[in-house]
Amino acid sequence: MDLNTLYRTVIMDNYKNPKNKGLVKSDKYHFVHLNNPSCGDDMNVELYIENGIVKEIHHDGKGCSICCSSASVMSDVLTGKTVEEAKAIILDFYGLVMGNLPEDEDRLGEAIAYMGVKDFPARIKCATLSWKAIEKAIEEVEASGK
Ligand code: ZN
Repeated sequence: MDLNTLYRTVIMDNYKNPKNKGLVKSDKYHFVHLNNPSCGDDMNVELYIENGIVKEIHHDGKGCSICCSSASVMSDVLTGKTVEEAKAIILDFYGLVMGNLPEDEDRLGEAIAYMGVKDFPARIKCATLSWKAIEKAIEEVEASGK
């Protein structure tokens, strides 16, 4: 199996069997909604941070396979990380889809599968939508001092 096939498999697996999908809608979670009009992607995320650790991420949305699968991968990769690590991984992911390999590829986990998105500039927003949403959620939680 070549790398491209492997990456496509990761993306399709996460599209068909998304991890952490479905919102709980309780006050415990910080909620953010973002959309991507250019593709019709619509993404909701919920974030719960405790003692500086990303404890839980949920997502729910509609959109293309790149967008929906990426939300699953994002939730899986960032859960359990410290907030500082999560922010660094988010930046690594933005770099990755633009064609810049991060220094530390390992911490991207399955998110490395989105490396090929750089060849499809119109899909970059699809890949990053859920990551932008969780980045905004982290910023808002930090600003609230919770
Ligand atoms: Zn899309």
